[in-house]
Amino acid sequence: MNLDHVSEYQRDQWVSFKAIEQACRQLTDLQGQELQESLSTYVEFREDLAAFQQQYFGAFCRDACFDSGVSACCGFESIITFFADQVLTYLLSTPDQVAALFRRLEQPNRTSNCVFLGDRGCIWSLPPISCAMFLCDKAKQHGFDGNPHALAIWEEFLRREKEYTHPTQPVLFDDIESYFMLLGVDSPHMYFHHGPGLLELKARADL
Ligand code: SF4
Ligand code: SF4
Repeated sequence: MNLDHVSEYQRDQWVSFKAIEQACRQLTDLQGQELQESLSTYVEFREDLAAFQQQYFGAFCRDACFDSGVSACCGFESIITFFADQVLTYLLSTPDQVAALFRRLEQPNRTSNCVFLGDRGCIWSLPPISCAMFLCDKAKQHGFDGNPHALAIWEEFLRREKEYTHPTQPVLFDDIESYFMLLGVDSPHMYFHHGPGLLELKARADL
């Protein structure tokens, strides 16, 4: 595949998704099933988070951004994604959804928005955690001012997110990278193994 005409960001994303696809093809049915099962708690967390976002911010975000077609959340090409985000969305996607991801990455992005923003929102079956946890200041003001109950729920989500992504203890996102590294995969998005900040956190926790 010649990717000279797309951005470096798209190339890196394409390379990671292709490596994940090839690694997953090596897995036996049982290994694939075990991998899926290891993700189930995180997927439940994401379902809870999506329900919360919809309840408290769905209408606000629709009016503020989506109806106007100006989603400030998705207005950057280079959104940071973890390798585990890519694995999760790959494993939770249908073959058509995977094909759509590759098609998108193989064409130049002529918009100023994120390359993954489609006509009906994000084309990831499970958007990256950094996107799912983002609330702009106006949204926070709308959702939390005068509503300590909603704020308390949100703070609990912030705590739960760390259980998967903050490597001061063994976390799923690190484990997923290790799992795929054993399958021979390397990726620029493996920040838990190549990112100085996360490596320092792991070292301080003796991980
Ligand atoms: S969080 Fe803020 S920027 Fe993002 S969609 Fe909602 S209103 Fe728009
Ligand atoms: S990955 Fe999806 S949710 Fe995140 S910025 Fe891009 S389109 Fe938006």
